[in-house]
Parts: sequence; structure tokens; C-alpha cells
Amino acid sequence: MDAIKQILQNFPQGFISGLLLNGTVITIAYFLIWKLFKKRLQNWRIQLKERADAAQIKNELKNGLFTLTVGAIFSSIVIFLSTRGYTKLYTTISNYSIVWAVASFFVILLIDDLWFYWVHRLLHHPAIFKYIHLEHHKSVDVNPFTSVSFHFMEPVLLTLWIFPVACFIPIYAPILMLVQIWGLLDNIKSHLGYELYPAWWNRSWLRFLTTSTHHNMHHKKFKGNYGVHFRFWDKLMGTEFNDYESQYDAIQERKKGKHDTI
Ligand SMILES: [Zn+2]
Ligand SMILES: [Zn+2]
Repeated sequence: MDAIKQILQNFPQGFISGLLLNGTVITIAYFLIWKLFKKRLQNWRIQLKERADAAQIKNELKNGLFTLTVGAIFSSIVIFLSTRGYTKLYTTISNYSIVWAVASFFVILLIDDLWFYWVHRLLHHPAIFKYIHLEHHKSVDVNPFTSVSFHFMEPVLLTLWIFPVACFIPIYAPILMLVQIWGLLDNIKSHLGYELYPAWWNRSWLRFLTTSTHHNMHHKKFKGNYGVHFRFWDKLMGTEFNDYESQYDAIQERKKGKHDTI
């Protein structure tokens, strides 16, 4: 009972800070891209037809409250476990080498990516798709608010990795926060609805990172391009759309003013 009381005590702060951080960044992204520069970025849209209406965004905002609630519960549990000494989170950087602190950022991203890919594929299994993941896929023309639009069970399943990671891997606490911020920005990028990355992206060493087009195609076609941060798993498992790179290039041509229909 004491544990539940302590977790509940941590909850309001976690919820309010999550709401402020996510709400501010997502709203700014939406306002800038979908409103202020809408006309100027017309050719940068990934799907030519705009279908994200007020009803879709209202549903996404409602779902977002559940997603943030789950996030706040999870961070409250991690804080509780830390105060009881069950995690390996540390706040004095000299406890481990600085090299490890930096490396741990990438290690956690790789674990998150691996976990996301396989849970995402599981959620697409025909036997369970309609119960959980369908809610996220109700948004076909994605926008920044889609980045938090999930059935409440989805963030529960997608974030479970945090407990074994926090309990078994020594992580400098601010690095975990950086991973969360990276995750937030990467998630918004994936649901931007616009391709902001440059034409050379998929011809440079950065092409192992997913683009907005990569995840947008997942929403448009439902199957394929399951990865979140990286393309490794899709490449390895043969689930990346064959025309991903050509679609990306076609959008880049359109951005130059050449009108192709995609
Ligand atoms: Zn999906
Ligand atoms: Zn999505």
C-alpha cells in the first residue's frame, strides 16, 4: 500500500511536466508546419490530399491524454523503484566513465528500437490489431497530434522495456531524459505529414535513420516500415517497402517545384 501511495504522490508532477513538454512541442510543430507555413510547404506534404480534419484531431487529443497518463504512471514507478534502490540509475556522472554515459544513450535507443519493432509487428497481427493498434491507424493523414494518439494499452506495451533497462543497466539519469526528448522529437518527425529532411539524406550515412516519409508510408499502406528510430530491423526482416527510397526521392523532386503525384 505504501508503494502505491508513493507512486500516486509522484503522479501529478509527472503528468503535468509530460503535458507541458509534449503539449508545447507538439502544438508548436503543428502550428508552424500545418498553419503558419502551410502554403509555403505545400509541395513538402507527403500525402497530397489533406484529410486530417477537426474530428480526427479531437480524437487524437483525447487519446493523447491517456498516453500522457500512462507515461506519468511509468515515470512515477521508475522514480519509486529508484528511491527504494531497485534501479541502477545514477545522478553522479563520475560513478561511471563519461564514455559509458554517452554510449548508454545509443544503447538505450537501440533497445527501444528493437522493442518497438517487434511489439509493433505483434500489434499488427490480424488476431489483435483491432483491439489496440487500430486506434493509432485511424489517422491516415498523420499530423503532430497523431504522435500521442494511441489506445492506452499501446504505450503500456511499448514502454515496458524501461523497467529491465532501469533495473539492470547503469544509466546516468539525465541521459534517460535525453532519450525521452529524442523519442518525443523523433515521434513528431515521423508524424509530421511533411518531409523536412533534405534530398541527400538517403544517400548519406544518415540513411540508417528513419524519415517522416518512412513512417508516413506505414500509415498509408498499413503493412511494412515498422521501425521507429532506425531502418535496421525492417531491412533485416525484409519489411521495408521496396519503393520507400523512390517515394522519398519523388517528394524531394516535388519540393523543387516539379509536381509529381504520389
Ligand atoms: Zn502500425
Ligand atoms: Zn504512427
